[in-house]
Formats: sequence, C-alpha cells, structure tokens
Amino acid sequence: MTDFPADSILVLVDVLPSGALPKSTAGLVGAAAGVGTPVALVVTAAGEGAAAAEAVAALGAPFVLVAETDAVSSSLTVPAVDALAAAADLVRPDAILVSNSIEGRDVAGRFAARTRSALCVDVVGVSRDDEGVVANHSVYGGSYNVDAAATWGAPVITVRQGAVEARADGVASPTIDTLTVTESGKAAASIDSFAEATQASTRPELRGAGKVVSGGRGLGSQEKFVLVEQLADALGAAVGASRAAVDAGYIPQTAQVGQTGVSVSPQLYVALGISGAIQHRAGMQTAKTIVAINKDADAPIFEIADFGVVGDLFTVVPQLIAAIEAKRA
Ligand SMILES: Cc1cc2nc3c(=O)[nH]c(=O)nc-3n(C[C@H](O)[C@H](O)[C@H](O)COP(=O)(O)OP(=O)(O)OC[C@H]3O[C@@H](n4cnc5c(N)ncnc54)[C@H](O)[C@@H]3O)c2cc1C
Repeated sequence: MTDFPADSILVLVDVLPSGALPKSTAGLVGAAAGVGTPVALVVTAAGEGAAAAEAVAALGAPFVLVAETDAVSSSLTVPAVDALAAAADLVRPDAILVSNSIEGRDVAGRFAARTRSALCVDVVGVSRDDEGVVANHSVYGGSYNVDAAATWGAPVITVRQGAVEARADGVASPTIDTLTVTESGKAAASIDSFAEATQASTRPELRGAGKVVSGGRGLGSQEKFVLVEQLADALGAAVGASRAAVDAGYIPQTAQVGQTGVSVSPQLYVALGISGAIQHRAGMQTAKTIVAINKDADAPIFEIADFGVVGDLFTVVPQLIAAIEAKRA
C-alpha cells in the first residue's frame, strides 16, 4: 500500500447516483490542496470507482482511495462512514474535508462521533498555522469571521458548497489504491428503492451555483416571480428566493436561501425585492459580488451590496434583461 505524505488531507468526495461528481468537488479538493496534499476517498457501487477516481484526480487529487461496495445502494451513510474510518486509519491525515451537502453532513457527524474527533461545520475556507489545520467560519449572518481549530487529532471539516474559489491543478498520473473496508454493522436507514427526480429545468442547481438570482416579497405574486426566472436565464444563473416569497407561494421551499434554507456562496448574487433580513443574509452574505435592486433606499440589503439600484424592480429588471441580451447578440 502507498505511503501517504505527512501533510495528507483526506477528502471524502460525494458521488452522485449517476456516478458523476458534484460541481462543488473542485472547491473541496482546491481547499485541501491549499493546506496539504489531497488524498481523495470515493465510495461507490461496484464497477464505478475507477471513473470517479479519474474524475477527482483531474480536479487535483494526486492520491485516490477507492472503496467499492454495493451497500451504498442499500443503506444510507454508514457505508461511507465505514470507508472514511478505514481511510483515516490508513492515511493518518492532518484533517478530513467533507462537503457540507446533506449526505456529507450526515457522514461527518457520525464519523466525528464515532472517532471522538473535533467537528467544524459549514466552513467557508481552511488555512494552516503552526499547530495544524484551521477552519474559517462565517457566522451570525456573515457578520463575523471566526476561526476554529482542534486541540488534538485531525479535525473533521464540512466545507460549504461553492465557498472555496481555489482550484488545484489536475493530476495526470494519480496513485489509485483500493481500500479494504470492514463493515461496522452500525444501524443504518435502509434504501428500498430510489427514483431519480426528473430535472424540470436546465437552470443550474442552487447549491454550488456560480450565479444566483433571488426574488423576495417585492415580486408581489407567483405570476410576477417569472421576472426572477427570466433574469436568471439571461445570466445563466440559478433561482433563489427569500422565505417571504416561499411562504407566499411564489416558488417552492427548495429555492429558499437563508438560515432555514440553502446557504450559497456564488460569484454573483442578485437580490430582487428582498429587504435583507439577517436570516436571509445568513445564507448569501459570503457571495463574492452582491447586487441588490430595491425601491427602498434604506433596505438593509444595501448595507452588504457591492452594487445597488434604488428603483422599482418591474422597471429596472426588464431593462437589465434587454441590456444583457443586446450585449450577447
Ligand atoms: C427563525 C427564522 C428563520 C428565518 N429563515 C429565513 C430564511 O432562511 N430565509 C429568508 O429569506 N428569510 C428567513 N426568515 C424571514 C426573514 O426574517 C424575513 O422575514 C424575510 O427574509 C423577508 O423576505 P423579503 O425580504 O422577501 O420580504 P420583505 O422583508 O417584506 O421585503 C420586501 C422588499 O421588497 C421591496 N420591494 C417591494 N416592492 C418592490 C418593487 N416593486 N421594486 C423593488 N423593491 C420592492 C421592499 O422595499 C422590501 O425591502 C426567517 C425568520 C425567522 C424568524
């Protein structure tokens, strides 16, 4: 078996049911490469490991561990926790990075509890000091940046999808090893069947999207919320919403951005008719560039916006769409 570098960072990579890797994997590997040598772990059904290993190497992992088990199709989370435990024993990493996805959070929590490791969740970056890997958090709605570190052992860190811009160079000849995993037999929810949800739209998925256009109560109705979708399509962006827009039935809850919705860290976040309540800001304040359009010049969203337009969105947004389309033509 391979000798792993002393500065190894173990990266558990989510693998989608299709066998593909989520877009946020590039940032996860990029974060690891910034503080050590990424050693990626892919846990897949039998026969799917090789393709996933090549894909993660292309994103910058020089070492890949492959755990193939059909248990991934019959039980939730535990097969990945078992594989992570085996990989951590083998690699002895300085830190373990996991996506802050629904499954990633579940795996990270269980693994940390099982191994009595420190757990840092929803981080927006990682760094290193003399004593080890440090997790960088954005808390209280993005009002404060806080660093957290473990007093002993390798911390388990879940990284917010889309939050890390750094990318590692692709590796042409990775070292790929098969990982032997002993099943723990721990209680797990079993999967009887699953049906792939049909993607009704060609828009990017909200989590991990590079651009997001969100609408709030200012849109006024479900019919008028279409304007948010039109601007999103003109920009190639995902569609988000405030809770008020969700509660009013303009759009399903899956689009809600904020404390009780999805956290996003896109390059561009456009807020239309959103006041900028702290609970909304909690889910979008780490966006790189924030653009707000609101008719109230005192709306709190302008406190965090990089660009703001004080005006009626029903006047401004159609002009904006026309300008984007004219530029493209
Ligand atoms: C425990 C808890 C959790 C919460 N979680 C979330 C969460 O996850 N996400 C979230 O978003 N909220 C959350 N909220 C709700 C949050 O407090 C706000 O109520 C909500 O974000 C407000 O949504 P809004 O900005 O769309 O609506 P409003 O606050 O009503 O703002 C509407 C804005 O639209 C502007 N506007 C109106 N018409 C126009 C127009 N024609 N042109 C331009 N601008 C216009 C107005 O000036 C106003 O600023 C939570 C609240 C609690 C208590």
